[in-house]
Amino acid sequence: MHIKPKIVLFVLLPIFLFFGLITLFDYQATRARITTQVKVNLQDQAQLYANQVDTLVREASSIALTTANFVSSHQSFQESMLYEVIGQNIQNNPLIYGATIAFEPGEFAGRALFSPYVYHAANGLKQLDLGTASYDYTKPQWHWYAIPRQTGRALWSEPYFDEGGGNIEMVTFSMPFFRSGHFAGVTTVDLDISHLLGIAGLDKLDRQNTFIVTQSGHFVFHHDKRWLGKRWQDNQNEFPPSQANKLSQVLQGRAAQIFELSEPNGKSLWVASAPVTGANWNLIVRIDAQEALAEINEQATRSAKLIVIALVLALLVSWFLLTRIVNPIGRLAEIARQIAEGKPDADVIAESKDEVGELSKSFALMAEKLKAREAALIQSNTALKTQIQERTEELEKRIRTEQILRYSEEKFAVAFNSNPTAFCIIRREDGLLLEVNKAFEDLLEYRHDDLVRKTIAEIDFWVDLSTRPEIVDFLLEENPARSGETRWRTRSGKIRTVIPSAELVTLDGVSFLLTSIVDITERKQTEYELNHYRRHLEDLVATRTAELEIANQRLKEIDQLKSMFIASMSHELRTPLNAIIGFSGMLYQGLSGDLTDEQKHDVERIYRAGNHLLELITDVIDISKIEAGRVDTFPREFSLKELVDEAVATIQPLADAKSLTVTVTPPAAWPRVVTDRKRVLQCLLNVLGNAVKYSEHGGIVLSVHDRNDDFEFSVRDTGIGIAPEDLHKLFEAFERLDSHLRIKAGGTGLGLYLTRKIITDILGGEITVESRPGVGSTFTMHMPKVMHATSGATHDKVATLLPQKQGLTRSTEP
Ligand code: ADP
Repeated sequence: MHIKPKIVLFVLLPIFLFFGLITLFDYQATRARITTQVKVNLQDQAQLYANQVDTLVREASSIALTTANFVSSHQSFQESMLYEVIGQNIQNNPLIYGATIAFEPGEFAGRALFSPYVYHAANGLKQLDLGTASYDYTKPQWHWYAIPRQTGRALWSEPYFDEGGGNIEMVTFSMPFFRSGHFAGVTTVDLDISHLLGIAGLDKLDRQNTFIVTQSGHFVFHHDKRWLGKRWQDNQNEFPPSQANKLSQVLQGRAAQIFELSEPNGKSLWVASAPVTGANWNLIVRIDAQEALAEINEQATRSAKLIVIALVLALLVSWFLLTRIVNPIGRLAEIARQIAEGKPDADVIAESKDEVGELSKSFALMAEKLKAREAALIQSNTALKTQIQERTEELEKRIRTEQILRYSEEKFAVAFNSNPTAFCIIRREDGLLLEVNKAFEDLLEYRHDDLVRKTIAEIDFWVDLSTRPEIVDFLLEENPARSGETRWRTRSGKIRTVIPSAELVTLDGVSFLLTSIVDITERKQTEYELNHYRRHLEDLVATRTAELEIANQRLKEIDQLKSMFIASMSHELRTPLNAIIGFSGMLYQGLSGDLTDEQKHDVERIYRAGNHLLELITDVIDISKIEAGRVDTFPREFSLKELVDEAVATIQPLADAKSLTVTVTPPAAWPRVVTDRKRVLQCLLNVLGNAVKYSEHGGIVLSVHDRNDDFEFSVRDTGIGIAPEDLHKLFEAFERLDSHLRIKAGGTGLGLYLTRKIITDILGGEITVESRPGVGSTFTMHMPKVMHATSGATHDKVATLLPQKQGLTRSTEP
């Protein structure tokens, strides 16, 4: 929360609240005080009025009393005398309208009724005898006579209207008098109550709110004369029924008191009552509480208004002043914040000439100083940073150097002591052995203490002492130096061949030779043995070469024998076989006479077996020729179409016999090729033959493709197919796969073996196969259009037969 609302909320408002409360309390106290005072005044006033009225009525009653005393104490009177007495008594009392002495019948001179009455008329006092005015006052209806007669006590009557007489509203005081101990009559005074207050000197009182009532509740005084003698309870306008109870109680109490009455309209009345003891009456004065407190209420309203105005004024003034104070402070706070955020350039404007202005000036000064100090700080910070960085780098370098040093020392110690190479450190100036390592001790079979702190001259391990100076000098002069070989003797007398090498190290001006000794004794021995063996090996190689040459010679001879065998086989087997086939064919056809069925069957078997054998022999010879590299090739130009036509024509009858179709898919243009026609045809027929042999329905499709330098035959059949696991066996010699067609199809198991040999070894192409069992197979052969001269005939038969000896054989050949 900002400072302005804070000040208003926590300072101004509480102050006003405080003053407001004080004023309220003061108002309450004043109101209570004034209330009490008004009430006391009212009470006093009521009492005062009551006393004045009391004096009057007592005066009046005393007149009746005097008259009564007079009558009681005289036995006989003259009639006129009585009038005179009464007249004198009332003459000076304006309140008394009239007075009488009413005798009991027979009491005054034997007369039945006699009541001399004197009263104030307009033109002075007048007199009459009530008894002769045929007014029988002894009747019970006339209370003023009847009740004292009955009780023997004085009585103030209730107010009544004296009709016919004075025509006024009056009350009568009756006093009984006695003669010779018996009731003899009453003396009375009649009071004109319409003049009661005037006579009592109470003209100035608030007539509207002053009432006198008798004990039975009849008005003796009321500002409205019409109400005189009437009961207050019937005056519901001024005394609402709601007040009746309270008022009755008060009037019964006959003591001075003050009480509050509320009217139905919410108006509050303060009522004071005081007894008029002389006549058993009550005087009531009432006052409107609101009116009584009007002044104090007015004052309170005025005060409240003043407080509100003061509050508003104070708020406005405070707000203005606070704005004057707070705004610059707010600006200062904002600037302080900017400075804190590192913007020391924030402007500080000193506006006013008061404390805030002073503060702004101080602030500006401070900001400037801060700026300067920050600049200085930044500068020193930068310097410090550089210094720290330099120190850090220096320290790091030192630590690194120390680490390296320690590490290299340790490394050196480890390397020195545990090195398998023998090391010693020699002081250069006198050849003193300062340190030797374990390998050095082992090499010379000396103990550490036998070597260290001795000069190399003292320890005699030189075999050829003559070489010593030369080697020592060499080590001392050259750096780093590796001397020549020399021989040392161990403590047990063994001779070791060593090569000492030295590195010159200078520490604190002293030079040392860090010398390593390489023991080459074993190497020397091995070298010697190797030389010996090499010489022996050369002899061995010569012997073996001779042996090989002999074996080679023998092989050539064997090969010649094999060639001869094959040639003779070709001739010797084929000639009789052809005879067997030819003659059995003739026999079968019946050219040599009729044969029995059995004979015909046997001849047919001979014919077939002969053909099979011939086929086998032809294949075997072919294979051996190829393997021996003795195949004669005859490349020539020919049309591929003619070759394909020939192959299809050859195979067609076989296909027809099995109801298989043969289809050729030709290339875009039939190429001409230069290759061995016979071998190409052989291969194609072989594959086509197999396709027919191993198919039972469908057909064979031969697709011919021209592929630039190559051409390709693809033979697809719808035969029994080949299981994937059998594919690798397909091109093996004598390999015939298991199938239900195996017997029926016949064959040697050499066809594909030979075909591949011809294609790869002679024609320079290759054969591949794809097959799915039960669906069919596709054999693809492709080969160059122009056969390469390297194929076939140029093969070296020895190389083919003995490939593992090739390198050796070649190297021995001249
Ligand atoms: P054979 O003279 O037995 O036909 P081959 O070398 O020509 O000998 O074939 C070897 C074997 O390969 C055959 O016995 C046959 O089981 C299988 N074979 C060759 N061609 C096919 C083919 N087109 N379909 C199914 N099997 C074949």
